[in-house]
Amino acid sequence: MVVILENNATEEQIKNIKQHLEDFGFQIHESSGVQRTILGAIGVKPGFDIRKVRILEGVADVYRVTSPFKLASRKFKEEKTVIKIKDVEIGGSKIAMMAGPCSVESEEQIFKLAEVVAKSGSKILRGGAFKPRSSPYSFQGLGEEGLRLMREAADQYGLLVITEVMQIDQIELISKYTDIFQLGARNMQNFSLLKELSKSEIPVMIKRGLAATIEEWLMSAEYILSGGNKNVILCERGIRTFETYTRNTFDLSAIPIIHNRSHLPVVADPSHATGLRDQVPPMARAAVAAGADALMIEIHHDPENALSDGPQALLPETFSQLMQELRLIAQAIGKTI
Ligand code: PEP
Ligand code: MN
Repeated sequence: MVVILENNATEEQIKNIKQHLEDFGFQIHESSGVQRTILGAIGVKPGFDIRKVRILEGVADVYRVTSPFKLASRKFKEEKTVIKIKDVEIGGSKIAMMAGPCSVESEEQIFKLAEVVAKSGSKILRGGAFKPRSSPYSFQGLGEEGLRLMREAADQYGLLVITEVMQIDQIELISKYTDIFQLGARNMQNFSLLKELSKSEIPVMIKRGLAATIEEWLMSAEYILSGGNKNVILCERGIRTFETYTRNTFDLSAIPIIHNRSHLPVVADPSHATGLRDQVPPMARAAVAAGADALMIEIHHDPENALSDGPQALLPETFSQLMQELRLIAQAIGKTI
């Protein structure tokens, strides 16, 4: 249920409304926008008469939110969420660029690529240290050493770090090195991991599950929001369909759909969405045109010998060229990169 307060509601009235909601057994989440203040009252109350709230002084309107996601909904928070991390914003008019290798492989590799990322004007270095691979025989990542190397490379070039957390017992360790947690597609519905991440203040980027509907994806965001972490970012990385010419099918329409239904920022990952190097630039351009708040792109200086996801990694020159093109597209829709 959403309770919209009168613009001139007094503190006393607001306190009283909150008290009533609590007495009715609701959990309250406040959202103060530029226009108005909204109270989200969460908790299913069969047979609850909404008019009991409507008549309270200071209440302008009350309505039920019919979608299963509440805190992630635009109905609860009208203004878009802008996540600020140091000097970077995700969700505003500047499109944030996240780039780097699939996996951190060595000191030389990550420093080289961090330089490419910084020189291109991107602000966020990506890279996996714990690699969830489809095969147990594939490279599994450098672990803490990979985290340390990535943090050092990012600090040297003034970048933020985003890296994947796969399990609860890694949260504490990864918190020491990262600016953003990446929740992998295969873990989107690992609800115990989501609950633990909701207790952190570090932003969480939720990658869409391989076969997850947009609603299921938003419900995962709801887990993190309801646990108290308001810094949630969504990432479209392609879904599994019957098509075999690409690794996954890039669901571009998810971007405007999320923007319409939710206030949360959306990142597009054309690298995992297509799995093919030559498909990445066109899909990256399309994602910017569709309104993505950020892009995540895998790059590698020697993709033939990359330890993971080589076929989809852009060479540094191609990435720099792509950045120029993306800037022009961004400009055409009133944004910058
Ligand atoms: C990745 O970002 O390297 C990755 C494993 O992504 P996903 O979880 O989307 O497959
Ligand atoms: Mn990858």
